[in-house]
Amino acid sequence: MSQEHSQKSGFETRAIHAGYDPDPTTGAVIPPIYATSTYKQDGVGGLRGGYEYSRSGNPTRTALEGNLAALEEGDRAFAFASGLAAEDTLLRSLTRPGDHLVIPDDAYGGTFRLIDKVGGPWGLEHSPAAVSDLDAVRAAIRPGKTKLVWIETPTNPLLNIGDIEALAAIAHQAGALLVVDNTFASPYLQQPLTLGADVVVHSTTKYCGGHSDVVGGALVVRGLEVADKVGFHQNAMGAVPGPFDAFLTHRGLKTLAVRMDRHCDNAEKVVDFLVGHPQVAEVIYPGLESHPGHEVASRQMKRYGGIVSFRVTGGEEHALDVCDRTEVFTLGESLGGVESLIEHPGRMTHASVAGTDLEVPPDLIRLSVGIETAEDLVADLERALEPGRG
Ligand SMILES: *Cc1c(COP(=O)(O)O)cnc(C)c1O
Repeated sequence: MSQEHSQKSGFETRAIHAGYDPDPTTGAVIPPIYATSTYKQDGVGGLRGGYEYSRSGNPTRTALEGNLAALEEGDRAFAFASGLAAEDTLLRSLTRPGDHLVIPDDAYGGTFRLIDKVGGPWGLEHSPAAVSDLDAVRAAIRPGKTKLVWIETPTNPLLNIGDIEALAAIAHQAGALLVVDNTFASPYLQQPLTLGADVVVHSTTKYCGGHSDVVGGALVVRGLEVADKVGFHQNAMGAVPGPFDAFLTHRGLKTLAVRMDRHCDNAEKVVDFLVGHPQVAEVIYPGLESHPGHEVASRQMKRYGGIVSFRVTGGEEHALDVCDRTEVFTLGESLGGVESLIEHPGRMTHASVAGTDLEVPPDLIRLSVGIETAEDLVADLERALEPGRG
């Protein structure tokens, strides 16, 4: 399907067709895995389709990138070997030593480590601000020095919501660009570029790939100036995915819409069960009217996603016990796959921020609600929360 049509069709049609036309020689409906590092030239410089060397371009990766650009409604997309490789490339494309960034005060741990521990010694400065607090973001900007306002929405694991449209206006007024890590929502639930963001970041390892079988990342950009810089750095830095990884990620994207709807259906059923349960102190889900970001989430997201966090009544011991007892929910890090996962952020994904301002409550549990039978998921949690067992 040509790029021209790919932006106008519905989301599900784009997910399945955008970025690839059946192979002209064989008619292959699915992009082949082009396991090749180089390409025959028809005379010096006579490139077929622009392909020269697979760090610079590979047809399997091109198909994935075309698909991602169409789903996020961006001008260009670039695929990487991991989400953090995408972030590293973006930072070096758009910032220089001495520049300043505003980052979420509850940023994904790997993003914080990259900006703080790798970017810091290289000369990048950063200030944390709550993505849900527009005044705090405004106050954190250093006029003339701040090049990027970097947000996640929803954030991890407390699911705070940032108002993308308002934050884009704040960033642009200060001469900065707005970067949105859209990993948790996926392009099906939220398209930040259509709300004024300049760059979307994905760990495609999560919902985009969706099957917990591949690590990958992507940048989708609005505006050809940013695209040229990122494209140059993608090739110059070389953190690209191999063709098999690109194939797996692209295969995952085709079913993104149906998977996300089922993730959301199941998450809503799990939330219904948890709310008011005597062993549960608080349920955190943007779909709940009690959630402070509910109104903004309702405006900018199609639905509220597959991640549910909750606090139990019996402190850390209780939370660890529940994590030990589930059987359908697998105890593990990561998120966004078809299988349900449970984890204890304080001891697992967020252990590195213990003792800092970013510390998460010790009685907190995070669920990545999968697409199994909803009743089995609820029954599993019911058993794990039953008092006096274990
Ligand atoms: C996992 C994740 C990343 C990092 O991506 P990798 O593919 O693990 O490198 C970045 N942002 C968010 C929100 C994530 O969940």
